[in-house]
Amino acid sequence: MSQTVPVDWLTKPDTACAYDAHNPPAMEWIDTCVHCGFCLPTCPTYVLWNQEMDSPRGRIYLMKMGAEGGAAMDEKFVSHFDRCLGCMACMPACPSGVEYGKLIEATRAQISRNYRRPFLDRLFRELIFKLFPHPARLRVLAFPLWLYQRSGLRWLLRRIGLIGLLPARLRALESLLPEIHLRTLSARLPQGVTPARKPIMRVGVMLGCVQRVFFGDVNAATIRVLAALGCEVVVPPEQGCCGGLAAHAGREPEAMDAARRLIEVFERAGVDVVAINSAGCGSTMKEYTHLLRDDPEFAERAKVMAAKCRDISELVAELGLEGALQPIRLKIAYHDPCHLQHAQGIRTQPPRLLTAIPGIELIELAESAICCGSAGVFNLLEPKTAGELADRKAEHVMRSGAQALVSANPGCLLHIASGLKRAGHPLPMYHVIEIIDAALGLCDAERRAALNLAGTSRASQD
Ligand code: SF4
Ligand code: SF4
Repeated sequence: MSQTVPVDWLTKPDTACAYDAHNPPAMEWIDTCVHCGFCLPTCPTYVLWNQEMDSPRGRIYLMKMGAEGGAAMDEKFVSHFDRCLGCMACMPACPSGVEYGKLIEATRAQISRNYRRPFLDRLFRELIFKLFPHPARLRVLAFPLWLYQRSGLRWLLRRIGLIGLLPARLRALESLLPEIHLRTLSARLPQGVTPARKPIMRVGVMLGCVQRVFFGDVNAATIRVLAALGCEVVVPPEQGCCGGLAAHAGREPEAMDAARRLIEVFERAGVDVVAINSAGCGSTMKEYTHLLRDDPEFAERAKVMAAKCRDISELVAELGLEGALQPIRLKIAYHDPCHLQHAQGIRTQPPRLLTAIPGIELIELAESAICCGSAGVFNLLEPKTAGELADRKAEHVMRSGAQALVSANPGCLLHIASGLKRAGHPLPMYHVIEIIDAALGLCDAERRAALNLAGTSRASQD
C-alpha cells in the first residue's frame, strides 16, 4: 500500500507545536512507522469510512504534524483521535512494532490538558468519570434503575417514543443498561476462600467497577473456579478502580492515582497473582509499569504488580481444568475482546478452555479481529460509530447460528447484545468463566439448567 496523506493537512500553515512538554507522543515511536499500511484493514474506523486520517497510519502522521507545528490542537485534530477506539488491532498487524497504544495515550493526555471541549461534551465526560469508576455511586443508582426497568416505565417511555427524543449519548447510555437483578445487587462476595487441600497459590481477585455492581455472577464464578482449582482466593473489599477508563481517555493524573491505590491494596493482600476477568482492566494493569514510570515511589512496585496480573482465562489455562467437566449442550459464538486479543495477546486460551467442555460447539465469528465498538466508554462518547460496529458484529453472530454469545469482557457482551436486540435477535450471553463454572458443576442448578436450556430452546427452533 502506498502512503496517502490528504492535501489539506499538508498545505496547512505552520503553527506552534501542539503539545506541552510533559510526555508528548514520542518521536522515536512515531518515526518507526514506515507507512506500509498493513494496519489499515484491521482498523474499525478505516473499515467503516475508508479515510486515511481515520486510520492508524493517518493518526500517527497527524501526531507527527502536531509535534512539528503542521497541525494545531483544534476540533478537527482532536476529532480524529476521539474517533480512535483504542482497540489496538493495528498493533499486532504492524511489522515495524509501532507502539500505537502508548502514542494514542500520550496524545489523549495532551488533548485532555490542552484542548477545551464544548460545555456539553465536558459535562457528559464529567458525568461518566464521576460515576463509572466509583462502584459505591453506581450501587446507589442501581436500585432506581432496577425500578425504572421493572415498573414498566422503561417500556412506556420506549413505547411512546420519548427515549428516541433523547440526545444520542443519553440514548446510548439508556440502551446499554444491563438487566438489573435484585438478587445480584444484594449478593455479597466472600473476602477469601481457602481450598480443602494445600493451596497452589494465593490469588487476589480484581472485581472491576461496573462489573462488581451489575455482573456479580461473573465475580462469584471467578472465585468458585479458582478455589476449585486449588487456589487460596483473596478478595480485598477496599479495592477501587484500576484506572483503565481514565487512562484510555487521557486523564493521566486520575489513572495514576487509581493505579497507586490498587497496587497498595494488592500489596497488603500479599498475593502471588492478581486474577482479572475484564479484558480492559487487565490490559491497563499489565501496563502499570509504563503508567507509573516517572513515579520514584511506585515505578518498581508497578513493575512487580504488572508481572502478577493474569486474565482469568490465562490463569485457568495455566492451572489446568482438572476434574470431570460436565457436558453443556450449547452452540456458542465467542467474541474475542480487543483488550484481550490485541492488547494482551491472549487468543488461544478462551477457545481452548471452552472447547474442552463436552457438548460445546464453538463458532468462529467473521471479522473476529475487528472491534465490536464498545471500547471502554467509546460507545457512550461516539454512539453512532459504536452502534454501526455493534450492528456489524450482531450480523455476524446471527449468521453464525449461535445459541449464545460468550466473551471475556462484560462491556463487549452488553454492547453486542444491544446490536442483537436492535436486530430483533436477542441471545443469552455469558462470560467465559461462567461457562467453565457451570462445566465444573460449581454454579447452582438453576444457572446450569438455564445454560442447557439456551441450547435446547434455540435448537428446537432451528
Ligand atoms: S486503536 Fe483501533 S481504532 Fe485506533 S487506530 Fe488502531 S485499529 Fe484503528
Ligand atoms: S503503523 Fe505499522 S502497519 Fe501501520 S503504516 Fe505504520 S508501520 Fe505500517
